[in-house]
Amino acid sequence: MLTVSFALFAIIYYQLAGLGVNLGYHRFLSHRSLKMPRWLERTLVTVGLPAGTPVQWAGNHRYHHMHSDTDLDPHSPVYRGFWYAHVGWYIGSGNMLLCILYSFAGPVRMLIDAWMRPRTNQEYNELAKDVAADKWYAWLSRPWPYALGMHLHAAIPILIAWHYWGIAGIIGFWITLATLYNMGDAIDSVSHLYGSTLPGQEDASRNSMLMGILLLGEGWHANHHQFPWSARHGLGSGQFDWTWQIIRTLRAFGLARDVRVPETKELVEEGLIEV
Ligand SMILES: [Zn+2]
Ligand SMILES: [Zn+2]
Repeated sequence: MLTVSFALFAIIYYQLAGLGVNLGYHRFLSHRSLKMPRWLERTLVTVGLPAGTPVQWAGNHRYHHMHSDTDLDPHSPVYRGFWYAHVGWYIGSGNMLLCILYSFAGPVRMLIDAWMRPRTNQEYNELAKDVAADKWYAWLSRPWPYALGMHLHAAIPILIAWHYWGIAGIIGFWITLATLYNMGDAIDSVSHLYGSTLPGQEDASRNSMLMGILLLGEGWHANHHQFPWSARHGLGSGQFDWTWQIIRTLRAFGLARDVRVPETKELVEEGLIEV
């Protein structure tokens, strides 16, 4: 039987992986929204490794922002359908059954990705030359180091789960991982379909309270597309952004600096706050 201790393990795993992707890959690596000590940024990105290789992820994501919800967008649900935007673009297929199997494959997906991520969707890597200029990120983005990292990412939590909770722990970890993967994928699918938009917005990105909470702040996606360089995504009143709270805490301890956020007048213009 799964226990309170497993629930704690799953929550910590979700938090760490979420921060690795939200803060490491997204707000820091792709958008340079803040600066952190090198050891911290590299740790966060390494923790978020299942998201993809650092170079491919940042290049692809920058291209998504340049062409959001046009026929050039690598994963727009408006142009390519829900399942292709959700996970199909990773595996080059819009087949719903294949996409569903892949999206719930958990640790098996990690092993598939260990081989695929450094080899597929590489066409926008030139947009991440700054990422490739860092020796650690360049090394991690190569096929064999990435495969090694992904096998460790799969093995470490599986061994912990097996050691403490046996077969129930393995099943519990599988569910945790599949949930985490689908939450991350939902940014590309759900967060470009459901929720509210900002006035005058041209792409299909959406703000959603539910996604904002579940995705640790990333669900304020319309805000993010309006201010991609902002370290804070929950910009309106009452828009909780957990990743932003972590960034504030890091800043208070001197571990984050040059944190970029919009001016008050910009937020008023977007109707996000009132004065
Ligand atoms: Zn988007
Ligand atoms: Zn972004």
